[in-house]
Amino acid sequence: MQEEIQRLADWIVESRRIVVFTGAGVSTESGIPDFRGPEGIWNQYDPADFTIGRFMGSAETRKKHWEFYRSGMLVDTSILPNRAHYAIADLYKLGKLVCIITQNIDDLHQRAGVPAERVIELHGNMKWVKCLSCGHRLPMESVIDRVKAEDLDEPLCNKCRGILKPEGIFFGEALPEEALHQAIHYSHNCDLFLVVGSTLLVTPAAHMPAYALEGGATLVVLNIGPTPMDSRAAMVVNAKAGEFMQQVMEEVKQRGN
Ligand code: NAD
Repeated sequence: MQEEIQRLADWIVESRRIVVFTGAGVSTESGIPDFRGPEGIWNQYDPADFTIGRFMGSAETRKKHWEFYRSGMLVDTSILPNRAHYAIADLYKLGKLVCIITQNIDDLHQRAGVPAERVIELHGNMKWVKCLSCGHRLPMESVIDRVKAEDLDEPLCNKCRGILKPEGIFFGEALPEEALHQAIHYSHNCDLFLVVGSTLLVTPAAHMPAYALEGGATLVVLNIGPTPMDSRAAMVVNAKAGEFMQQVMEEVKQRGN
């Protein structure tokens, strides 16, 4: 592992335009389960319940969603960033980070100190809830409070009684256009593209490493499990993101960069 730490530290020192691409694996050390790992959410929940069609069409599915959110899953603000989020934030402090492209909806990169404008949330976030009929937006926290206080199966819009949906993107929904456009642009125009904690299976997000390679970037994959891009990466590290990234950034700082 020492060799990989040194090599990534070298590349970070040499790089000027780094893009970090993160998935659920960057947040597991904060206590949020990923989807496809051994402790993943898909071992407990049916992925079909997370399609936009099922959510809109089935009151039973919406009930499951609100049970899931009221248990704190994906929306618990007491969850804290971990060593991986802080190490990535250090790249920003060193002036090397162009942006983070994240599939996560947990706000932990921002809470680790990266300004919101440097975090491209490809799959939205869970801070807001929107009415699918009238577009009224409400903070997730206030909606969860209402669900708990009134013991609701499903909260409805307080303006028009429409269906409320978190702003996190569900399967079958289009990605936010501007975020996708920016992600493609920055992937094409970086010199080092670092994947942290993603299976790289969810498209179109998973296409970003290929755009980076097309643009001539060095690709590094840091993930416990295998990914379809491993064979095209300059280096693959199968390690826990927190410990590995912390050691890499300690090395980078020691070199006075
Ligand atoms: P995924 O669940 O498909 O894959 C996560 C990967 O991370 C796995 O390969 C796993 O082996 C690896 N991993 C787990 N812990 C790790 C660690 N400590 N260090 C390094 N690697 C680790 O996740 P994905 O690729 O992001 O795609 C799933 C979708 O799930 C995304 O769309 C994302 O929006 C959503 N999601 C988000 C959150 C969150 O916001 N925290 C949580 C669950 C799912």
